[in-house]
Amino acid sequence: MNSTLKTDVVIIGGGPGGSTAAMYLAREGIQSIIVEKDLFPRYHIGESMTGECGAIIRDLGLESVMLADKHPRKHGVNVYGAEGKTRWHVPVMARDENNELQAQFTWQVRRSIFDKRMLEAAVDRGATLLEATAVKPNMNEAGDVIGVQVRLADGNLEDIEAKMVLDCSGQNTFLANSGITGPKYLGNYDKQIAIFSQVANTVRGDDDDPENHPDNTLIFYQKKYHWAWFIPLDDNVVSIGIVVPSAYFVEKQESKADFIKRELRELNPELSRRVPDTTLLEPARSVVNYSFQVKKFTGKGYICIGDAHRFLDPIFSFGLYVTMKEAQLASKTIKEYFTGANCDADNPFANYQAYVEKAIDVLEDSLDAFWEQPLAFARIVHSKHRPFMVDVFAGRIYEGQPSPAALSFQKLLRRERAYASEDLYSVPIGSRYHPERAPIWNTSSSVVRTADGEELVNYFDSNSPVKA
Ligand SMILES: Cc1cc2nc3c(=O)[nH]c(=O)nc-3n(C[C@H](O)[C@H](O)[C@H](O)COP(=O)(O)OP(=O)(O)OC[C@H]3O[C@@H](n4cnc5c(N)ncnc54)[C@H](O)[C@@H]3O)c2cc1C
Repeated sequence: MNSTLKTDVVIIGGGPGGSTAAMYLAREGIQSIIVEKDLFPRYHIGESMTGECGAIIRDLGLESVMLADKHPRKHGVNVYGAEGKTRWHVPVMARDENNELQAQFTWQVRRSIFDKRMLEAAVDRGATLLEATAVKPNMNEAGDVIGVQVRLADGNLEDIEAKMVLDCSGQNTFLANSGITGPKYLGNYDKQIAIFSQVANTVRGDDDDPENHPDNTLIFYQKKYHWAWFIPLDDNVVSIGIVVPSAYFVEKQESKADFIKRELRELNPELSRRVPDTTLLEPARSVVNYSFQVKKFTGKGYICIGDAHRFLDPIFSFGLYVTMKEAQLASKTIKEYFTGANCDADNPFANYQAYVEKAIDVLEDSLDAFWEQPLAFARIVHSKHRPFMVDVFAGRIYEGQPSPAALSFQKLLRRERAYASEDLYSVPIGSRYHPERAPIWNTSSSVVRTADGEELVNYFDSNSPVKA
């Protein structure tokens, strides 16, 4: 017979979403067990933070840890046009108590270091860390989620009984794959591939110029859906990623490393100038089909956080922030639920679900407007809407939206968003999602291969497959 552990909340995944949730739950006096399958430190992509992501770190009291680890300070993002001659800049700025914009900085992080620190901080604040793989959710006769079954490092199975399961499993989408949530749909940017590594000896900016600060994120645009990132990881090393349609990568018939090196020379003249030495410091890694959306991602006994229910497009670095913000918001909602709020509702977390879904819709409208109308988008960045753009890039997407900038994007896209209050589970989103139109996620549908025949799978899956 399996042994059984008990806790208030069992958290699947000890990435930034899981550890942030554990810290905010601890603040509410709620116990948690974090189930993490990998030993940390481990590699992860997703290295650039938004301004409001930095604000969460500060709210958690971890700024001193970030400073001690000497993560580069990001002051903004610069986006270079296809010829490399024009650029637009969005600074990292916070809102003060008078709602005025003030200069602020956030961080670029090596995820191996950052994720480990976050997990350690969660454990320091009372969370229990269990090195194990969640293999299946446990349910009662009514179909409510009442815990999970995990496989321990020694191979034995163990049940964890909990009042709530928080799915923070990232792109592994544990609860969606287990059939607990609604369907998982392909997102707008599902036919893309990101191939990335690290380089050194690059040409960085100028310490005294926040618009061209050496630690800023640089984005190089080539054409629609074809771009590169440049994210400083320390004084010398820079994370480099090339993102293109999968079909273009297949057509090139190159190894991942050769593909990156050639794109560094050809994608954008400013990128070539910045990276004269294309020696890769790390093996090239890839992520395919990262864009998806899970419907009905909350229900009796569970909430999915961040990537575990929706990921759009990495271009403006919203992933870490969204997962950490949702972890913060969900912890408050869980506290209210534990003290009796909405206990008898069909879905106690319906309001939370609609709230976070609408916020990601603001990001989706911004990203879609960028891809569909890049010139109009750049004009809006420099127009009277600039402060609202600064807000969106920082991550202030939950309140005061849709802002005039967000409405301009909807207009550019000829998109209307009508949120039917009686039907919170089917908030209409984006051009691809529609129950009749949008394809259901199916990993076998779009296999991408390198020139030497290697089938590219997400390194999330290939590093440590989850086996039941
Ligand atoms: C190409 C690309 C570039 C990106 N760049 C950026 C960027 O610059 N900035 C940014 O903010 N975001 C970026 N992102 C997004 C970012 O990587 C994610 O949003 C972020 O890592 C989500 O954090 P998380 O904690 O929700 O999930 P993760 O960080 O993925 O953590 C999930 C954890 O769950 C564990 N796990 C999974 N399944 C199980 C299981 N069954 N049992 C136990 N443990 C399990 C995993 O081992 C993992 O440690 C990028 C994404 C992609 C694809």
